[in-house]
Amino acid sequence: MKYEKPTINRVDFALASKYGSPLKTQRIKSEIDGVDVHELTEKFGSPLFVFSQRVIEEKYKEFKEEFTSRYPEVEFWWSYKTNYLDAICKIYHKLGSKAEVVSEFEYQKARRLGIEGKDIIFNGPYKPKDALKVAVKEGAKIHIDHWYEINDLEEIADELGMEIPVAIRCNMDTGVYPAWSRFGFNIDNGEAYDAVKRIYEGKKLILTGLHSHIGTFMLSAEAYKNETKKLIQLKNRVEKDFGYEIEYIDVGGGFASKNRLKGVYQAPEVVVPTAEEYAEAITSAIYEYNEGKLPKLYLETGRALIDEAGYLLTTVFASKRLPDGKKSYIVDAGVNLLYTAFWYNFNIFLDKRYEGLNEPSQINGPLCMNIDVIAENITLPPLDRGSVLTIWPVGAYNITQSMQFIRYRPRAVLIDTNGTPHLIREADDLDYVVEKEVLPEYLK
Ligand SMILES: *Cc1c(COP(=O)(O)O)cnc(C)c1O
Repeated sequence: MKYEKPTINRVDFALASKYGSPLKTQRIKSEIDGVDVHELTEKFGSPLFVFSQRVIEEKYKEFKEEFTSRYPEVEFWWSYKTNYLDAICKIYHKLGSKAEVVSEFEYQKARRLGIEGKDIIFNGPYKPKDALKVAVKEGAKIHIDHWYEINDLEEIADELGMEIPVAIRCNMDTGVYPAWSRFGFNIDNGEAYDAVKRIYEGKKLILTGLHSHIGTFMLSAEAYKNETKKLIQLKNRVEKDFGYEIEYIDVGGGFASKNRLKGVYQAPEVVVPTAEEYAEAITSAIYEYNEGKLPKLYLETGRALIDEAGYLLTTVFASKRLPDGKKSYIVDAGVNLLYTAFWYNFNIFLDKRYEGLNEPSQINGPLCMNIDVIAENITLPPLDRGSVLTIWPVGAYNITQSMQFIRYRPRAVLIDTNGTPHLIREADDLDYVVEKEVLPEYLK
């Protein structure tokens, strides 16, 4: 017999299945921090990104409290790429967070917001030499990613006639796979130690920190314990061998938010570690393994702080019946605004209670692209044109990765702690889109 590859087909849910009745209670959210969702879309348009300053502050305080109650010197560095809207960065800076950037653009954006070089960590695998030189001159914390960067920095040290304080980024096996091994120097095979030795022998740079960022949406607190242990062991060793005094270890970001990863069956409340569990894993490993003076502890957490503070409001435009009987809703927000739709099953809330039977439905965006799917399998009552849906949590990586594609990108608002909404990003328009285009003379 000819071999046939086995396949698994999803069984579409009908009225009842072993997973229970689809006639679930409707999940309703009619307001965000006291502001009615219809009032928001009427005033600012739809779709609309909405951020809650209250949630941003609560999350930040929760993480800060868990770490500072366990460890003497902790600093938070806001990861710009997670969400670099000025208003959002400003809130974190006002709360005491410094800046973590991974490109010259993000560096410039932080400087423009008034952040001094010394309060910026410059990470990333691609730091063009002139950008690196500016950052060095301004006293930024440079985290070296590869051997070429050591050479670049030594040249800059000669050009500026100064010794440059640096940190290196490390990667390692933390027990979570696939491991992120393409950034920095590997600790397990001795490469990180060799890099420190190379820096020491070059006599132009001084090592002041050790950094790692082990991944994103890490569901294991244990991985951070392993990471911290390895960073601290490397610290002990290079202090002893080279006489360095390592001021800080930076354990990066990557803490998970309460989002629902596709393929993960259990609820986020069950699988996502708490701030307390992350803090305990990291700080206990420092106490257990550190020899000599305790280093400062730096965190670059992004997603876990902002994801739950972000909502996307979208309005139902039409519905249709697909050939397989499923109901499809066309809404005004597409995957060009929701980059993370590829990984998450978002929570989707209705603006009010709807009459009628729930049925298997899907939610599609406005793009003329088959991939524009916001929710593939969702049980919904019959919705009307004009129904407003709230998609949550979307605060991390969506604004920064959203693209102008087919339609204009929408506005973003911030609701302050008094419940007043403020515009923080204007929508794109035609002028904005064509501003950088050039029509050659001969085509005019
Ligand atoms: C992206 C990034 C972060 C933030 O990661 P989150 O998963 O959003 O917490 C921190 N550090 C570095 C180096 C990064 O690249």
